[in-house]
Amino acid sequence: MTKRKIDIFGTSGSIGQSTLQVLRERKELYDFIAFSAFNNVDQLIADCLEFKPQYANIGNEKHFLKLKNALFDTDIILSYGKKSLLDLACIEVDWSMSAIIGFAGVEVSLLCAEHSNVLALANKETLVCAGSLLLSLCKTNNTKLIPVDSEHSAIFQCLEGECRKDLKSITLTASGGPFRDWSLKKMKSATLKQALKHPSWSMGTRITIDSASMFNKALELIEAMHLFEMPSSKVEAIIHPQSLIHSCVFFNDNSVLTQMSISDMRIPIAYCLAWPDRIDSGVSELSLEESSPLNFEQIEEKRYPSFFLTKKIAEEGGIYPCILNAANEIAVKSFIEEKIKFLDIHTIIEKTVSNFETSNASNIDEVLE
Ligand code: MG
Repeated sequence: MTKRKIDIFGTSGSIGQSTLQVLRERKELYDFIAFSAFNNVDQLIADCLEFKPQYANIGNEKHFLKLKNALFDTDIILSYGKKSLLDLACIEVDWSMSAIIGFAGVEVSLLCAEHSNVLALANKETLVCAGSLLLSLCKTNNTKLIPVDSEHSAIFQCLEGECRKDLKSITLTASGGPFRDWSLKKMKSATLKQALKHPSWSMGTRITIDSASMFNKALELIEAMHLFEMPSSKVEAIIHPQSLIHSCVFFNDNSVLTQMSISDMRIPIAYCLAWPDRIDSGVSELSLEESSPLNFEQIEEKRYPSFFLTKKIAEEGGIYPCILNAANEIAVKSFIEEKIKFLDIHTIIEKTVSNFETSNASNIDEVLE
């Protein structure tokens, strides 16, 4: 049997590491082509020694010497910086995991859409900022796009074998984040440490903050609009604190389908890897007796305004989602650096959006600008 050629971009991050966990048990089935990390050179070195990819790229040049010294007696071809990273994404492979966080992952995802048979997409910004472009590249190149985000993976799974015309609406589930029970007044003085205490998922820093502000759900709303060709009016979200139901699909006959599991990213990753089959994800079975009760709560606009702002402007499309995302990325960075307060994140997003009129971006350069 020929081995499947695979790339993992963003190897050292939370999704990258979960991907390696799934692959660890079945290494013999794969040819590892490219691994990449931005700053975490120690993790990249350890992963290279274990999985022996053909290429490895470190984003930050200052770590290159360390990478080179640690791997000098291997055959791994090493590089640093963005240009080399983009070159790696142009190698033809069977499967790519695009898991670089933030806007930096957009270009990599777009190249994977051209040079990979299957694109497992974890980078949200690709769909948010360049959704139409990504979908058309996948179509032209006959690339199968499978979402890694747990909510979209759930919807994708529920829609397999269904007729699109029977689809009525989608409801994304949200954990509610660490401030679910907090008053607006208390949220005003929320600290970085408090925002990083996610109740049900263990994720990277940026996405944990986005989850506390519900901006993550706003990005997921836009992702869902692109992936499942739905208007924003037909994509809802609801707080489900247990994070066991990963989203719901409503059909014309009023049936509701859902996918449930323990909240662990190895499940959607294993699904992407094996699609259309299923493999052992390494995650334990969900106990239904221990899962009750399953609760659902409305998202309050006054505490999570970013979600509602996004829902309102997402319909206008164009570069609005890209502006929203850029404003949030900068604001979250400032919050992490403790330069602004938690609720300032939304104020900055709102002000930035009101400074622009939307227009359409037809290529990656316009998106980047
Ligand atoms: Mg998600």
